[in-house]
Amino acid sequence: MPTLRRYTVLPRLPAPLERLRDIAYNLWWSWSPVARSLFVRIDPDLYDEVYGNPIELLSRASQQKLDELATDDAFLSHLEAAWTTFNAYMSREGWFKKTYPNAKDARIAYFSMEYGLHQSLPIYSGGLGVLAGDHLKTASDLGLPLVGVGLAYAEGYFRQVLNDDGWQGERYPINDWTRLPVLPVHGPDGKRLIIRVAYPDRTVLAQLWRVQVGRVPLFLLDANLEENAKVDRAITGPLYGGDQEFRVRQEIMLGIGGVHALEAMGMSPTACHMNEGHSAFLALERIGRLMRERGASFAVACEANSAASIFTTHTPVPAGNDVFQPELVRRYLEPYRAALNISEEQLLGLGRSDPRDAKSPFSMPVLAIRSADHYNGVSALHGEVSRKMYKTLWPELPEHEVPIGSVTNGVHIASWISAEHGELYTRYLGPRWADEVDDPAFWARAQNIPDAELWQVHEHRRHRLVQLCRHWRRVAAERRQLTPDEIERAQQVLDPRALTIGFARRFATYKRATLLFSDMARVKRLLGDPDRPVQLVFAGKAHPQDKGGKELIRSIVHASRDPELARRVVFIEDYDMRIARAMVAGVDVWLNTPRRPHEASGTSGMKAAANGALNCSVLDGWWAEAWARHGSEVGWAIGRGEEYEDGAGDALEAEVLYDLLERDVVPLFFDRTPHDQLPRAWIRRMKNSISKLIPEFNTARMVREYTDTFYVPAITLSKRLREGNLAEAERLTTWKEKVRAAWPHVAIQSVNVRSKEQLYVGEPLDVEALVHLGSLTPDDVVVELYHGQVAAGQDLPRGDVVPMKLVSRTEHGHLYRGSIPTKDSGSHAFAARVMPHNPILTHPYETNLVRWG
Ligand SMILES: *Cc1c(COP(=O)(O)O)cnc(C)c1O
Repeated sequence: MPTLRRYTVLPRLPAPLERLRDIAYNLWWSWSPVARSLFVRIDPDLYDEVYGNPIELLSRASQQKLDELATDDAFLSHLEAAWTTFNAYMSREGWFKKTYPNAKDARIAYFSMEYGLHQSLPIYSGGLGVLAGDHLKTASDLGLPLVGVGLAYAEGYFRQVLNDDGWQGERYPINDWTRLPVLPVHGPDGKRLIIRVAYPDRTVLAQLWRVQVGRVPLFLLDANLEENAKVDRAITGPLYGGDQEFRVRQEIMLGIGGVHALEAMGMSPTACHMNEGHSAFLALERIGRLMRERGASFAVACEANSAASIFTTHTPVPAGNDVFQPELVRRYLEPYRAALNISEEQLLGLGRSDPRDAKSPFSMPVLAIRSADHYNGVSALHGEVSRKMYKTLWPELPEHEVPIGSVTNGVHIASWISAEHGELYTRYLGPRWADEVDDPAFWARAQNIPDAELWQVHEHRRHRLVQLCRHWRRVAAERRQLTPDEIERAQQVLDPRALTIGFARRFATYKRATLLFSDMARVKRLLGDPDRPVQLVFAGKAHPQDKGGKELIRSIVHASRDPELARRVVFIEDYDMRIARAMVAGVDVWLNTPRRPHEASGTSGMKAAANGALNCSVLDGWWAEAWARHGSEVGWAIGRGEEYEDGAGDALEAEVLYDLLERDVVPLFFDRTPHDQLPRAWIRRMKNSISKLIPEFNTARMVREYTDTFYVPAITLSKRLREGNLAEAERLTTWKEKVRAAWPHVAIQSVNVRSKEQLYVGEPLDVEALVHLGSLTPDDVVVELYHGQVAAGQDLPRGDVVPMKLVSRTEHGHLYRGSIPTKDSGSHAFAARVMPHNPILTHPYETNLVRWG
């Protein structure tokens, strides 16, 4: 046999079409309807086949077709329109520059294990990635000086294929990075830029790819190079595959390799945002560099690094977090430990809740918290859960004072609404809706959309979803090589006029995808009513190792084969962003049934709401907030926010869900006005959903919140700490050392109440405390009264704080006085406390020292 050598011949882009390529290499097209429809138009079937990847599309389109388009006026004017829109977008001044004109040399590096930007770039698995993708798109909209850092997976996340029994199998198609909308990064010498990352006994090389997301670049590290050993080439193989050791290797590449990459490109970050703990090793490299390049001590470098670091946690269950065996971390981080000049115990202590516990494993989120001064959860409720989860890191503080706040997630609206909804908003709210996306007054105008028009667009999208489901089922049936009869039957599903309920997300057991099937007789009655038909569309992947999740998928597939449910229940294979977009725009109701409080935020319901679908959800994550503010105006709550031990509430909540659907949801949907058949009351809620939820649950609001509360303060403070060769960081470190050394001698000698014991509302409680400061001065501390209402036999609950004033110094100590206001009657309690204070601290608990009286 001769050796066959393959080669590819690419079509030439005729000159009038050259701009197509410029547009194709900027993911701006993924949220621009004018650009998307331009690519579809080139060859709709091919567009579908290549998952909307424009580079693949352009390289596989026939030369003849392209030559035709080059002389097609209609196409050329469409291209011109896209080009004009693109340039206007790229050149406009952003919100950031207008709001923070002084932050000129700011650069925020955003690190994430996954990015969901578009279905053609399969480097995401689910919500975390989609959030990161939406974060970048919004940073571009707002003109933030932000760069993304991630990994260029050769395999990425798996594609889901179900067997005849409905059991999930996984396929890992290989990504050809030369055929994706990404470009290689070159060094000043014109060659591929290569970075070198230290691993035990070896160096691993990585090259870089640049994904342009509007005005924001995303850099992806790729270790799949011939120079690397096979195990090392696999570092950027699958997303979330492999064992613990594999994950350590991967996370070193993301965090440490990521810092190398930015530095090699001359893009030294002024702030680093860790989206989840996977990238937390970056701190070690950042600290090491400060020590190497600026001659700082470990402690000073830590101060300068943490002031500039932000950590967002997304995981409300400890089991969901990355923890590694100490031995593994010890081995892999040895080169870094040596460079930092710290002991093994010190190194491992950075990832332990209790640094002295030599047995406890190394936790990435703990490392992230230890190496950042800013931390947050992703919904108000998740903030609470996170404070509970990590309170052992601040052992002296009441739980609600644990300094982990929350920034509620959002979605990038332009990416998630259908083109038809976009046109509707343009017509009735104005063409600037994408720029006013977080202005409630602006979105109040959604009430002006005529009922009939909103309903028409909605019904159109529901029809489209039904068509797509049938199409996807045909494709799946053909892949399984079913008989022509079976393929025909696979397409005979769904009714475009039925009330359509969507459920799509990762199939983790806590999300309870099969809650609706707990009473088969009841669900058959619900779906099978010929006058008021209801149907269910499911989609979602289970983690390859999650047998329980796969079991849920199989049971839905089996249910969908029950003759009484056959046309009313479908499971769509291989959930991805494309299927998500079709579903959120086409369903009437978006169902979410997690076990509270396991859903950190959830975002798919926000996407549905942005298209006017109504949410029906357990009060968890974002929906708990939406419900608290708007109640039944915008959808339905399953239960009232109860929490049960694992599984104990399932039967009860299923019951509640059936009742809700039977009594409220279905009747409302089929309540039509006689002359025009419009469900007016339903449409009213759709409009509320659009006008009230869009301006809150979008990423413009979210990214602005990150910018105002984290990025800008972090940039400002870390700049100050770094000035004069880290002089201020040096001062802060010295001060903290002084405070730590003096702290054992700090004591509250006595606390006296100067008012009478029995008070009436409005009379303050005056308190005096005699405080020993040891070698500290009053400038080094704050003395406070922590007070609150108590039920009998309870510890001090959520309290408020009032400062005490220094009134005199005596030979016995410093005398402080303060007054606690009395606003409510009842039983109250207070305690006095001393904490270190320095205006340069990021938050008052940074030193983690509190002395209670
Ligand atoms: C939005 C989205 C998710 C996240 O959905 P949740 O409601 O947060 O679970 C997951 N996967 C895809 C493809 C998505 O588009």
